Amino acid sequence: MNLSEHFTLEELVASQLAARQRIDNRPTPVVVENLRRVAGVLEQIRALVGKPVMVSSGYRSPALNKAVGGAPASGHLDGLAVDITVPGMTARELAAAIRHSGIVLDQLIYEGDWVHVGLTNGKPRRQVLTARFGPGGTTYSQGIV
Ligand SMILES: [Zn+2]
Repeated sequence: MNLSEHFTLEELVASQLAARQRIDNRPTPVVVENLRRVAGVLEQIRALVGKPVMVSSGYRSPALNKAVGGAPASGHLDGLAVDITVPGMTARELAAAIRHSGIVLDQLIYEGDWVHVGLTNGKPRRQVLTARFGPGGTTYSQGIV
């Protein structure tokens, strides 16, 4: 099912881990509506960079989020967050391009190998963060560092 011109519901709920571990990752109708908004933002990003946008993780059911070690209040649980890459760009370049584009997000997080794009049904916080994954857990710093 197409959520927008270039993005399908299937790619926004696909998970190799869910498939491998037979984790149910079917979205609720509310999640599908949120993913439709996400797809709209992905169209804006696609137009910005002029290249296809690859989704590495979109919606995560509670079981899948637990399996991947996602944050307990992760936007992925509501279908309001997506992790993306663009072939031919580093994640840092992609994060910087989105940051300077004027595209309104709740959270933009440079996560090293990918970029986390988060929306909200409330007032967007326009946070720009860099995540570092260490043995003691994930730490965040302000901006793209
Ligand atoms: Zn994410």
